[in-house]
Amino acid sequence: MKNHRRLFIPGPSEVRTENLLAMATPQVGHRAPEFGELYADIQPKIQKLLYTEQPVFMVSSSATGVMEGSVRNLAHKKAVNYICGAFSKRWHQITKACGIDCDAHEVEWGCAIKPEMIEERLSTGEYDCMTFVLNETSTGVLGPIEECAEVWKKYPDVSVCIDAVSAMAGMKIDFDALGVDVLLAGLQKCFALPSGLTICAVSDGALEKCKDAKGNGYYFDFQALLKSHAKNQTPTTPAIPHLFALNSQLEYIVNVEGLDNRWARHAEMCEVVQDWAIDRGFGLFAESREYASKTLTCMDNREKQINVAQLNKDLAKYNVMISNGYGDLKEKTFRIAHMGDTTLVDILGLLAVIDRILGF
Ligand SMILES: *Cc1c(COP(=O)(O)O)cnc(C)c1O
Repeated sequence: MKNHRRLFIPGPSEVRTENLLAMATPQVGHRAPEFGELYADIQPKIQKLLYTEQPVFMVSSSATGVMEGSVRNLAHKKAVNYICGAFSKRWHQITKACGIDCDAHEVEWGCAIKPEMIEERLSTGEYDCMTFVLNETSTGVLGPIEECAEVWKKYPDVSVCIDAVSAMAGMKIDFDALGVDVLLAGLQKCFALPSGLTICAVSDGALEKCKDAKGNGYYFDFQALLKSHAKNQTPTTPAIPHLFALNSQLEYIVNVEGLDNRWARHAEMCEVVQDWAIDRGFGLFAESREYASKTLTCMDNREKQINVAQLNKDLAKYNVMISNGYGDLKEKTFRIAHMGDTTLVDILGLLAVIDRILGF
């Protein structure tokens, strides 16, 4: 086997051995009582993580599948897709590909979607669904969700779908208080688990709204998920190994590390990496520190123009890996993830090695 390169990329994240081993638990039948027990064991912990009592579905799919599912279930009239980077743009492409009437509201990459942009669109009365990416992994921008929530709460007929893929389990997201209808995330980012399962909290309003919808489709139909949920099951055979790992990791997050400690650890790592970026003359790609992601930092490389590909090659000698920029931003930026179970010691070690390589 090749040397393992420890991952500091914004997904997939490094997985602790304990959770890898949990995946090797002998299989149970997905209609057997043992499976129901596993499902029921996970629910209260995941609800605690999201500060909600709403059902939290666990869908065996990458997050993109549930992004598609949420607009299928909830955009009956017209959707507005807020775009500030590659993943929020993907949601617009998905909405169009599903044949749903939609508009894009795009800002320059590096900028955040602001509350007045929500007001501008929702006040027209044209839309019954909006999509919003909380933490734009491609640009390292964190949207001001609390301020935006004050706006969308005034428009209860608009379903609010939030992609929290690179934020959930890395920062506090109070599902109920934010007036959100769908909040989704894959396991491979801040949960620090292998990819393959998506977590999705859904509001009562959304579950009611999609009851008589025609476009829900089959695999991501929230009604079907709800019906199975009531029996502590999933409609089709789920990724059972991932559910064992999720149960193990939630036990750790909620009962060993503790939620407040987890949020504080992420905030501390974030501060250290942002300080480093600014001290070394890169600066942040995000428009300001206020809107910079808490779980990954996207360095602006346009001024210093270090060779990012070469840096990663050099880092390979130390068995670590960071990420270049996303798509068109490949050499213009580079990204360091400080998410999941990564510790401050890991981050300080990584930054020291980068300093050594770059001769800072
Ligand atoms: C990684 C990521 C996705 C895509 O997730 P998949 O599991 O690959 O479908 C979507 N949105 C954001 C913000 C991401 O970071």
